[in-house]
Amino acid sequence: VKNYKIPVFIPELACRHKCIFCNQQKITGVEEIIKPQDVKQLVEKRLFQLLPAKEHIEIAFFGGNFTGLEIQQQEAYLTVANEFVRSGKVSGIRVSTRPDCISHEILQLLKYYGVNNIELGVQSMFNHVLKASGRGHTAEDSIQAASMIRSFGFVLGLQMMTGLPEDTAEQALFTAHEIVRLGAKETRIYPLLVFRDTPLYNRFQDGAYQPRTIEETVSLLAQIAEIFEESRVNILRIGLHASESILNGQMVAGPWHPALGQLVYSQLWSSLLSRIVSHRGDQSFSIRVSSRQYPNAVGYKRCNSLLYPGITFVSEPAFNGMQYEIDCC
Ligand code: SF4
Repeated sequence: VKNYKIPVFIPELACRHKCIFCNQQKITGVEEIIKPQDVKQLVEKRLFQLLPAKEHIEIAFFGGNFTGLEIQQQEAYLTVANEFVRSGKVSGIRVSTRPDCISHEILQLLKYYGVNNIELGVQSMFNHVLKASGRGHTAEDSIQAASMIRSFGFVLGLQMMTGLPEDTAEQALFTAHEIVRLGAKETRIYPLLVFRDTPLYNRFQDGAYQPRTIEETVSLLAQIAEIFEESRVNILRIGLHASESILNGQMVAGPWHPALGQLVYSQLWSSLLSRIVSHRGDQSFSIRVSSRQYPNAVGYKRCNSLLYPGITFVSEPAFNGMQYEIDCC
């Protein structure tokens, strides 16, 4: 079943914090805040575009801290979204928020209005990294919020970042393992980028922050993706999408690539193929992979196919995730 999300961006409306990397309007490319009464029109327009693809469609409140909004504002947005759920036009609602904006009262409210998925931006499980990034919450906040969300029966998503100030590759791998341990079913991984009009931009200009290269980022993300794949944590996104703000020069540095996810999975498949080849002792076989993973197995710009010319890649619609089967030629 294909999942569609109708994103509703609420940039920084609810945010009291100033993470050093964030200028939320620049990241989402949305400068104007959508009003609850306009959400209905936005969703109806997207539903019209998506039909007749009547599959799993969600309304997703992204951008700032949904549960940091005033309760009345949350209810205003959720009332509109809930009408679409009750009429059967959408299957669910998801919200993204911060670990320190979760409480029993808030979770009761989200449950009442039919929210299914809650995504928390935990970013790192190290307090010194969170502090250096100006996040304003702790790893303990993330642990507590994750536990409460699961106890209410929501699907838990935990997002992480790489390349944060004072973070290391080893610490990022630990954070990924913690995300698995905390019971996340979904994740998003965002390498840190430098945007104008942020404290990080000033540090970058002073030479106090050095962004990670694309090569080291892809290598680290491939290891992180492997952790999530092995634990069946669904990776919803790797890296920011090509929004206007990325393309119009607001982003000034950092490991951004339009096909970052494919680069990461190409590397993951490359390591897997290397292990298979050395185990078999020959490179002539055909490998069946899921249709979704087929472009990644072949590799970005066919890099894996060029590296292993004896391997024939076959798309297998019945397979899921990183599942594969080898047929001898
Ligand atoms: S919590 Fe940080 S990243 Fe999120 S909207 Fe606020 S300042 Fe931006």
